[in-house]
Amino acid sequence: MNVPSLCAVFSILLLVACSSDDNEPSNRQSAGVDTSPNEVQTGSRAFGGFPVPEPLPVDEGIWLAGDLHVHTNYSTDASNRPMAEVISIAKNNGLNFLAVSDHDNHVDGDLAGNTWSDPGYKSDDELLVLYGAEWTTGKGHANTFSATPYDHQAMYAVRDGLSSEVERVVKSLGLHFSANHPASGDAWGYGYDVVRSIEVWQSSVWFLNMNAQTIWDDQIRTGRRMTGRGGSDSHHGYIRSFPTRIDPNNFQPFVNAIGTPTTWVRARNRDAESVVEALNAGRVTISATPQSPRLVLTASSGADGVFDVGMGDNLVLKEDRPVRFKIALENIEIQSSFYRIEVIRDGSALTTLNILPGQTSVIFTDQPGANTMTYYRVTMQGVSTPLLDSPGSFIPSLPMVSISNPVYVNYKD
Ligand SMILES: [Zn+2]
Ligand SMILES: [Zn+2]
Repeated sequence: MNVPSLCAVFSILLLVACSSDDNEPSNRQSAGVDTSPNEVQTGSRAFGGFPVPEPLPVDEGIWLAGDLHVHTNYSTDASNRPMAEVISIAKNNGLNFLAVSDHDNHVDGDLAGNTWSDPGYKSDDELLVLYGAEWTTGKGHANTFSATPYDHQAMYAVRDGLSSEVERVVKSLGLHFSANHPASGDAWGYGYDVVRSIEVWQSSVWFLNMNAQTIWDDQIRTGRRMTGRGGSDSHHGYIRSFPTRIDPNNFQPFVNAIGTPTTWVRARNRDAESVVEALNAGRVTISATPQSPRLVLTASSGADGVFDVGMGDNLVLKEDRPVRFKIALENIEIQSSFYRIEVIRDGSALTTLNILPGQTSVIFTDQPGANTMTYYRVTMQGVSTPLLDSPGSFIPSLPMVSISNPVYVNYKD
């Protein structure tokens, strides 16, 4: 593909940029050079009492792929799912981190003596594991994420309690607490001040997540800077031995495999602490599978055109002027597909943009206004890339390929 000639063609289109970054402002942080009166803040400040993540310039860190909601046979409803197989599938599918989130009520809260002490559940050079559980209550389910083991019995003791009690324990344990499938049959019945993220894409079946999008947008519009994340909630396996080990749920690996969807975090380092920190900060995007392109949204804080505001960041706009946004497709070597981008501003569609074969970024401009609380997030529809282990698993995800986290403007601390 001749990139310069593509640039010439695309330059006549107002909103389109090319796969070559030659004409793009670089993503360098303008360290030491005050090019803008505006201020960029890092994520999750809307949650009182939670620590504020340290800034991470948009061109730093590494993108890591993971699944944040997977069950093994320590959950009684995943009895045909040994840990060794889960770890093997996660690695085979190219994941960098994994949170096994077994139901805590299936082991009386004793994760330490079950999931966490399984000999196969430990981080190595290929895969980072998080410590957590699916906190399973009559008022909803939530996942806990921690880089190190913690006292889960303290969480188990407050199941079905008041949100204020739960919040106290979550904070005392330093957990990332995340509402699961908030609009499913086990809908979230606690307050949203207690969680730092919400499962906005659960399982490979995209269309079941429409109400979760509405809840997410609703919560963000109340002033919360809430991370959206994915999780397959995959329960059943044995794809390699199918059909020799028949089980009523053996269909699952064909449509709801580990990594469908994949949550990407921009981590400071390749370690579990950095994965949790990125979730706290909202440096997160989601794709249908680990091999599918991921959307990365950035904005420019100043008139110099440098895209220095990342997902999860808050741009404090001190002047009324247009702001440029860049939507980039990453995790893609040869871009040969058509995609449709939707820009969502404050919960409503602002515009739609097309991505053409050969194109890996697009720019749009909007004027959010000084002193006006506004957020932007983007979604991308098209055909995603199948998983190696489970080629049919991308089909229920259609047409969604990737959804970004928000860039915030003028959110309050
Ligand atoms: Zn659940
Ligand atoms: Zn689950």
